[in-house]
Amino acid sequence: MLKIENLQASIDDKLILKGLNLEVKAGEVHAIMGPNGAGKSTLANIIAGKEEYEVTNGTIELNGEDISELAPEERAHNGVFLSFQYPVEIPGVSVTNFIKTAINETRKAKGLEDMPAKDMLKKIREKSELLEIDRKFLSRSLNEGFSGGEKKRNEIFQMAMLDPKLAILDETDSGLDIDALRIVANGVNKLKSKDNAVIVITHYQRLLEYIVPDFVHVLHDGKIVKSGDASLALELEAKGYDWIKQELV
Ligand code: ADP
Ligand code: MG
Ligand code: MG
Repeated sequence: MLKIENLQASIDDKLILKGLNLEVKAGEVHAIMGPNGAGKSTLANIIAGKEEYEVTNGTIELNGEDISELAPEERAHNGVFLSFQYPVEIPGVSVTNFIKTAINETRKAKGLEDMPAKDMLKKIREKSELLEIDRKFLSRSLNEGFSGGEKKRNEIFQMAMLDPKLAILDETDSGLDIDALRIVANGVNKLKSKDNAVIVITHYQRLLEYIVPDFVHVLHDGKIVKSGDASLALELEAKGYDWIKQELV
């Protein structure tokens, strides 16, 4: 699904990613961990196509196609979803109306008509039931006065509705209470399938108590320096990151 080879990228002429390799197959959940400033968010933003970064080397393929020249919208239309891509507050636009517009814009980009209202309602009902989201929440103004947990609920709902091939959740963990972590974990666990893949980026192991990843990678100084299974996350929680840095010397 996703194949990244020798990715090098910089911002303001500062090299951040220094030859990163990552392969994610359909049906897999990958966790990317690593110390603050390692380049985790940079990686997420570059996959999503944010334009402030300069890719100086390497390739990013999605389902065999090079996506590195595509605009963020085009990547989204190709099935890439990044959490917090739409963090804005929009008074007067409800959670539901926002997602309806996003879905129809995606369809339009593919030359399709708007989704029939009946199908849209059915989808909203199915996904909100799956994620245990109540109707009142769906009619609230987007992000207006949302708590941390509600922001997460909205994000996971967006993800469920957009049905991405590749979902990237950049969980900075800062200010995330246990409820918010559970909402994210529950959503990922319910939405993962053999046809999609999820990358969860996290600084702490806590989130991975609820999402069991198939692979855990450690990003350090712009590269993936170690990969393993879920037990690697536990080892990192117990021992921190320093032992990995020492292994590299
Ligand atoms: P992480 O998510 O792993 O904590 P980031 O990807 O946010 O790390 O940051 C990696 C490095 O890139 C840091 O040194 C950070 O200061 C730098 N960086 C990230 N974004 C920007 C930016 N917009 N402008 C300048 N430097 C940035
Ligand atoms: Mg950071
Ligand atoms: Mg980050």
